[in-house]
Amino acid sequence: MAYRSGFVALIGPPNVGKSTLLNTLLGRKLSIVSLRPQTTRNRILGVKHFSGGQMVFLDTPGILQPKGVLHQALLKNAWKTLSDVTIILLLVEPFPGEPSLDPELKKRLEKSRVPVFLIINKIDLIEKKNLLPLMEKWAALFPFQEIIPLSALTGEGVEELNETLIRYLPEGPPYFPEDMITDLSERFLAAELIREKVFHLTGQEVPYGVAVTVETFKERTDKPLIEIRAVIHTEKESQKAILIGKEGKKLKEIGTQARKDLEVLLGAQVYLELWVRVEKNWTRDPRRIKQFGIEDPF
Ligand code: GDP
Ligand code: MG
Repeated sequence: MAYRSGFVALIGPPNVGKSTLLNTLLGRKLSIVSLRPQTTRNRILGVKHFSGGQMVFLDTPGILQPKGVLHQALLKNAWKTLSDVTIILLLVEPFPGEPSLDPELKKRLEKSRVPVFLIINKIDLIEKKNLLPLMEKWAALFPFQEIIPLSALTGEGVEELNETLIRYLPEGPPYFPEDMITDLSERFLAAELIREKVFHLTGQEVPYGVAVTVETFKERTDKPLIEIRAVIHTEKESQKAILIGKEGKKLKEIGTQARKDLEVLLGAQVYLELWVRVEKNWTRDPRRIKQFGIEDPF
């Protein structure tokens, strides 16, 4: 079986239960604290590993927030993210009153052509007989791929959501290491993602002996743009040549693919500059290993 992976965006109004659902889905109490709590960009909320794949959960602030809070450019960015993810989870509550969908959101969801699951959370608080009529009303509002009622708090229905998510994931790479669950610094994640692209695109040609460090991670304040400058460290000139490729094509491909994923993860435009540096025998130098292995203080 091929490895499967994807990005899952969690959207919904405040207090609908997004954080609770994530904790239940990831199977342990996480401190979902972004390093920048006030960020208006996407946040990587967590990575869920299962046998044969992984899903990366993203927060897209700004969507379904009170109007006028955000700069237009940032909101535009959030909408763009919705077109780039693999699956969108729209969380709602089963009360009060009639279901309704924000017209702007509806338009964007339609345009995105990404599968949208409607998650009706907090079903522990309603009578079961009300559920089916409610689901029918929601189904009439939008062609949701799936409508899943659950209780993030009690866990009822969460396993079904988990299995459904897995069914929808396409073949893809492991974006992050197995042991990574919570959100580390974005700098570290960026380095991991670039390293993953190196492995993915050079296959067996450049095995171990490759490390990536992010030298610059600079966020513009006037618009959602992040400048990232990263170095790919190798042990040998021959590896460097493979990494760069004919007329620089390989490195360019690595950069393009990494940039695309980074833009989804970070919810901002990314300007990515990659350099390849040869450092003989760094894999045998404990000091360097430590340096490459340990996340950069943010
Ligand atoms: P968020 O703002 O969307 O992240 O919402 P939270 O996850 O912080 O949840 C808001 C409140 O709703 C908290 O008090 C949760 O305990 C509660 N909550 C979340 N999911 C459920 C559920 O399935 N059932 C019930 N009864 N309460 C829930
Ligand atoms: Mg929350």
